[in-house]
Amino acid sequence: MSDSKKFELVLNPEIALDDKNLRAFLKGKGWLSDEQYFLVDRRSIDARKFKVKVNIGLTISEIPLRHEFVEYQSATDSVLNEPKVIIVGAGPAGLFAALKAISLGFHPVIIERGKDVRGRRRDLADINKKGIVNPESNYCFGEGGAGTYSDGKLYTRATKRGNVRRIFEILVAHGAPEDILFDAHPHIGTNKLPKIVTAIRETIEGLGGTVHFNTRVDKFIIEDGSMSGVVTQEGQVHQGVGVVLATGHSARDIFNLCVAQGIKIEFKPFALGVRVEHPQEQIDQIQYNSNERGFLPAASYSMVHQSKLAGKERGVFSFCMCPGGFIVPASTSSDEIVVNGMSPSRRDSKYANSGIVVAIQDQDLQGFHSSGPLAGMEFQASIEKRAWQSISNGQVAPAQRLEDFIRGTHSPSLNTSSYQPGLESIEMSTILPKFINERLKQGFHSFGGKMRGYLTNEAQIIGIESRTSSPVRIPRDKMTCEHQGVKRLFPCGEGAGYAGGIVSAAMDGERCMDRLAQLYPAKDK
Ligand SMILES: Cc1cc2nc3c(=O)[nH]c(=O)nc-3n(C[C@H](O)[C@H](O)[C@H](O)COP(=O)(O)OP(=O)(O)OC[C@H]3O[C@@H](n4cnc5c(N)ncnc54)[C@H](O)[C@@H]3O)c2cc1C
Repeated sequence: MSDSKKFELVLNPEIALDDKNLRAFLKGKGWLSDEQYFLVDRRSIDARKFKVKVNIGLTISEIPLRHEFVEYQSATDSVLNEPKVIIVGAGPAGLFAALKAISLGFHPVIIERGKDVRGRRRDLADINKKGIVNPESNYCFGEGGAGTYSDGKLYTRATKRGNVRRIFEILVAHGAPEDILFDAHPHIGTNKLPKIVTAIRETIEGLGGTVHFNTRVDKFIIEDGSMSGVVTQEGQVHQGVGVVLATGHSARDIFNLCVAQGIKIEFKPFALGVRVEHPQEQIDQIQYNSNERGFLPAASYSMVHQSKLAGKERGVFSFCMCPGGFIVPASTSSDEIVVNGMSPSRRDSKYANSGIVVAIQDQDLQGFHSSGPLAGMEFQASIEKRAWQSISNGQVAPAQRLEDFIRGTHSPSLNTSSYQPGLESIEMSTILPKFINERLKQGFHSFGGKMRGYLTNEAQIIGIESRTSSPVRIPRDKMTCEHQGVKRLFPCGEGAGYAGGIVSAAMDGERCMDRLAQLYPAKDK
């Protein structure tokens, strides 16, 4: 690599985002010859100025270049006969905990209530086409957890909580595109994620790990304040050195089970609101100052406003923005309406959607405090249920045009939408509590001020965006990650309140397994 040269450039998108054009540009400048190779090391789009530019870092060399794995090497020894650890949930936290377990000499046993990717796909079709939700297999439950049929945005601010590069390398090793290693806002897309998730599971099984699908944990085995295993819905017992509980933010039965079995849990602030959908063209125009986005990807946005109501301040913010995406029914039961967003790798749908949510604190939950630590969960459930009661059938979602919502008027008609089960015109104020309604209006006003053209009746809000993060924390020791009251229990990932997204959940899975191995090393067994 001694002959390689590094370049930092600021280029027009049509050059920076197209390999052929970039090559021609570098040659034109005399920086690249026919015998040389180049590799993009870093790439970010800067849309802050009137004319959008791309910052790009690249290396030119005499020898072919590739993105080397510096943090991940697959384990090679089978762990079939090694001590078992039990991992509940096959979401990002559970899968990455299992990979880590293998590298630390444990036999991971993953127990997952949902189906594998293929079986799950049929259940998603039933939700979208028939409005029937299988409570064990849906957009939240099944192989890969909530991360499989998601957007696959991999940007995380939690860079200090683990090794982000390692997570990306593992994803690339299992089929993710290499550009996630150098893009500032990496994204995989819902069309590619299922294959990657399956490949990760195959690695786990190939190295001697075990995965049980269609198997729900219904009970914990706790003796003398220590968890030795779990019992499934069919009464099977699975025991191991420790239990990593990575069941996600929608496993309400697990939160209830914790309370029933005396495992300490706490209320955790979360956020709730609606999803807003605009024509993607409109967001492109606003963000790129141009009617044609050309080589640029579908534009996104991220906004926050501090709302004030009755002397209390609460954040209103955009959440999980999906440019060129789809709104999906993320309910885990047939008698509730929950929406979320996803997008394919090309982000080429006609729509831009984003959650717009209000931060919820314990003081906001009047009428729910008798539920103790489950107050937030019950509050969340009550609004999801009200949304379902407001519509006429299935998973049709309540919707209102954006300006109508702000004016407080009924929408006589709705826009077309990416939401497959269909929409029904309902005034959102009849579903949402007043304090959320009012704060959302304040938020939208503020966003309209920041993005001219954002406040329009060509956009509509669709409800309810309620599963933004867990309304519960399962408290654990800061250093050891072991539960504060129950030994050998490692609450993990988003459901336990320690992650918010695919990458942070994956990193937390690795972290919990690492700490478990430090406290209870495999070789001592
Ligand atoms: C539609 C959608 C789009 C999203 N888009 C993005 C995105 O673009 N980027 C991003 O970073 N995040 C996104 N998210 C959020 C992300 O998917 C989650 O943050 C992440 O999956 C959390 O990982 P986890 O492993 O902690 O939990 P989960 O992924 O929720 O996995 C938990 C698993 O536990 C299983 N389980 C639950 N209870 C039991 C039980 N009793 N017994 C056995 N198994 C059980 C569930 O079936 C599930 O598979 C999206 C989520 C959704 C729903």
